[in-house]
Amino acid sequence: MSTERLPLIAGNWKMHKTLAEARELAREIRRGLEPGRRVEVVVAPPYTALRSVAREIRGSFINLAAQDTFWERQGAFTGAVSPVMLKDVGCSYVIIGHSERRQHFFETNQTVNLKLKGALAAGLVPIFCLGETIKEREQGQTLKVVETQLREGLAGLPPEAAATLVIAYEPVWAIGTGLTATPAQAQEVHAFIRGQLPDLLGPGGADIRLLYGGSVTPDNAAPLLKEPDLDGALVGGASLKGDSFLKIIAAVG
Ligand code: PEP
Repeated sequence: MSTERLPLIAGNWKMHKTLAEARELAREIRRGLEPGRRVEVVVAPPYTALRSVAREIRGSFINLAAQDTFWERQGAFTGAVSPVMLKDVGCSYVIIGHSERRQHFFETNQTVNLKLKGALAAGLVPIFCLGETIKEREQGQTLKVVETQLREGLAGLPPEAAATLVIAYEPVWAIGTGLTATPAQAQEVHAFIRGQLPDLLGPGGADIRLLYGGSVTPDNAAPLLKEPDLDGALVGGASLKGDSFLKIIAAVG
């Protein structure tokens, strides 16, 4: 972990939590955070709970994220939610290109690119997710797949992207499976991503924050977060309970 970049721990609640449960979890995290710790915390509840969680975390150093966005600002797009609406409800971040969106909702690098542009135009910070499948890793394709996801996802992004964007490397085989990349495997891909970014985003690109995601738990967080190019974690399952999420936040040195 670098000393210059502010570490970021983000919790992706996926399709979990009723309103009452979401409020309770947000309260628990808020109460348990140690003041003065050098870490940024983000929670990503489902759309239905964004407003309630925004109220619970107001005035704290927890930031609100949505789990997805459409790219248009408004219009006849039944069922979609725009980045402007997310900003309006209190989000400062939005997760884009999560592998579950790519797998179950047919997202492509091209739709991810449109969403990144839409989010940035609305003033949201995207958490851009990418990563290889187990088949791609076994075939030795990891860096090639990640390079394509980066190049196509980031094509034509405005220059301010380099100042705000966050990227989450999430190997698909590690998400929700209990299998975690080793610190060395994660570091190898993070260093590769960081090396690509100046070409893709301009000189500021090398300084953006890179998160690791894939079965991060209180037990494996610390060694992962020690790696020089890991600036934090995107946490799914272990963010659904206050105590385990707080332990992961505490693992930031
Ligand atoms: C995720 O949802 O981004 C994730 C990494 O999930 P999990 O921590 O459960 O693997």
